[in-house]
Amino acid sequence: MTTKNIPPDWAFEFHGHRCPFMPIGYRMGKLAMEYLKVEREQDHGFFVFPEIGEGHPQTCMVDGIQAATGATYGKVLMEKTFFGKLAATFHHPHKGAVRFSLKPEFMDAMGKFEFFVYRKKGVEPSQIPLPVVEEVIKWTYEQTDDFMFKIEAKPDFKFAPVKGSFNKAKCSLCGEYVFERYVRTKDGNPVCIPCSGYKR
Ligand SMILES: [Zn+2]
Ligand SMILES: [Zn+2]
Repeated sequence: MTTKNIPPDWAFEFHGHRCPFMPIGYRMGKLAMEYLKVEREQDHGFFVFPEIGEGHPQTCMVDGIQAATGATYGKVLMEKTFFGKLAATFHHPHKGAVRFSLKPEFMDAMGKFEFFVYRKKGVEPSQIPLPVVEEVIKWTYEQTDDFMFKIEAKPDFKFAPVKGSFNKAKCSLCGEYVFERYVRTKDGNPVCIPCSGYKR
């Protein structure tokens, strides 16, 4: 293997199927952490901005990024930019920011594997014969970091996370709790967004 950054079994379990893009994201995440000299995020201090959108393939990458970095969607450490690109910016408030993207040459070479013949026919990864899946995964493990990733320092990258608050109110209409930031007022009473009739 050319890379030491191979996902553990639990990452494949979390992801749900075997495919090449979760491992690519995992590797990207590990390399970005190494670049910025940060440890896997336990709490809320490391942010990732994947540039994927919706309605296009290969977004599996982002599950690998989450597995590697601990900067997860659930901890609100991840925000998609919807640029429709296979890239991500990694940001640590004290260590700086770096953007990783997949090189077109790598994507073109990878696109020649049989795995993508199945995918383009609409076959889901879990339904593709395992040797076909393993072939492309193994190939990615054998490629160099330099062939796969373009790496750009982002010294001017700025991001200010929203300040957290435990305060909440009970919606005067549905009776459910709503956190402070999202409380709206209707006829002088606190309401949640769905009850308010407002869009946000
Ligand atoms: Zn996948
Ligand atoms: Zn309500």
